[in-house]
Amino acid sequence: MKWVNRLNKIAIIGGGITGLAAAHYAKQAGAHVTLFEASERIGGKIKTVYQDGFTLEGGPDGYMARKPTLTELITDLGLEEHLVRSKTGTSYIYVRQKLRQMPAGSVMGIPTKFWPMVKTDLFTWRGKLRAGFDLFLPRVYEGEDISLDRFFRTRLGSEVVDAMIEPLLSGIYNGTLEDMSIESTFPQFITIEQKTRSLILGMKALTPPVQAGVKPKEAGKFLSLDQGLGALVEALRPSIDRLETSTQVQSIRPHEVTLSNGHVEQFDGIIIATSPNALGGLLQIPEAERLSQLKRTSSMTVLAAFEEGDVQALDGTGYVIAKAEHNALTACSWMHKKWPHMAPEGKALLRMYIGSDHVPHLLEEDDETVAAFALNELRRIQQVGTPLFTKVERHIHTMPQYEVGHKQSVRAFEEAISAMDGIEACGAILHGVGLPDCVDSAKRAVERLHITQEVTV
Ligand SMILES: Cc1cc2nc3c(=O)[nH]c(=O)nc-3n(C[C@H](O)[C@H](O)[C@H](O)COP(=O)(O)OP(=O)(O)OC[C@H]3O[C@@H](n4cnc5c(N)ncnc54)[C@H](O)[C@@H]3O)c2cc1C
Repeated sequence: MKWVNRLNKIAIIGGGITGLAAAHYAKQAGAHVTLFEASERIGGKIKTVYQDGFTLEGGPDGYMARKPTLTELITDLGLEEHLVRSKTGTSYIYVRQKLRQMPAGSVMGIPTKFWPMVKTDLFTWRGKLRAGFDLFLPRVYEGEDISLDRFFRTRLGSEVVDAMIEPLLSGIYNGTLEDMSIESTFPQFITIEQKTRSLILGMKALTPPVQAGVKPKEAGKFLSLDQGLGALVEALRPSIDRLETSTQVQSIRPHEVTLSNGHVEQFDGIIIATSPNALGGLLQIPEAERLSQLKRTSSMTVLAAFEEGDVQALDGTGYVIAKAEHNALTACSWMHKKWPHMAPEGKALLRMYIGSDHVPHLLEEDDETVAAFALNELRRIQQVGTPLFTKVERHIHTMPQYEVGHKQSVRAFEEAISAMDGIEACGAILHGVGLPDCVDSAKRAVERLHITQEVTV
């Protein structure tokens, strides 16, 4: 355990949600917090801007309500009354050149209801029958990490994977199922398989019955803030006693931070909350180097605002796109339906995601060209008129891929860092990329530093 005197100094490196949450918890524990951020702004991937009455989220737009740490933080910050829940409704998958409704009762791509699965036009009869093998097949996970692709293809067959599971799950990590570790991304599927053997039966048992008086359409799974997630960043800013933006940290050693301008500062505790690629350079230990060399994918988001009448009217909140359609977009959210607070009355806001494969060709292009390209791809799927304005956001090499074996690399890194006095690490590279996961890991990093008045070593 590492002990740091309450009155002493903590340095946090990185001003994304992880670093900001760490600042909050460290400040709450009584520390004096200095935060170093390489760019000119704090917030990291959270990028909220306001234009003509629209709230535009260039990065994350909300978070999963079932993970409590972020809601607790928001409550701590006095922002509880600003929480908004996403609207739900039909969601679609674009497959075989048509937007097709997700079968009712499918949870994270796993069918749990018999009739919607029988009736859906997403799969052929052969595909549906093959998915039913899940009820009888033995367990696929045998204690050693495997890819999501292998797990789901064995249990449910290729049709269900290609048309439903792949577009849904790969979008969360902006990766491909072939690379993604089941242990590090969706370990809950291992638990279900261990318990009930069949995924379909296990997921069915987990799905809560609809409560009397609550329409399923009202029970959105995501939360955000009515002013956008930028409001969270601003509420966390006062936790920082000393903010150094446009300041890149070059390396750290126990109790010592070296900035890229050569300046060296001493601290009692140091929390690393940078994006994954920075880890190796900062720590210069092989375990950190290994983590920072993990595959990271890129994506772009293109927001397009419209008069509502200029967007083909469909009931629902958006769609994901199957790979076989060879569209550069991986998904499109109808933000004005999912989050009504994000668009003024009578207007529509669409958010398109350009997948990794297409980003390299677009990187050199200006925003106008990227937006025009995205709109062309969109018009292959749904009709839209001329946008009022567009906004492009680039996320280059930022999304860590939890590949098979990731858990072992994280364990080795955490063991190595636990031997380094007064240094802790947290963030999206370790135990989950979602905002609540990041906040959770920041909270645990601060707890491990054990900021207290009682003991100094
Ligand atoms: C397009 C997109 C959409 C997403 N949507 C969602 C969503 O809806 N819900 C959800 O829960 N999650 C979502 N995520 C994931 C989530 O946004 C991220 O995992 C999370 O924001 C990561 O936060 P972070 O603080 O760990 O890292 P970052 O936000 O990357 O912040 C790290 C900071 O460290 C700084 N830094 C790096 N190196 C140094 C250095 N040497 N010295 C000083 N500073 C340094 C960087 O400049 C950066 O500001 C999305 C991600 C993307 C890209």
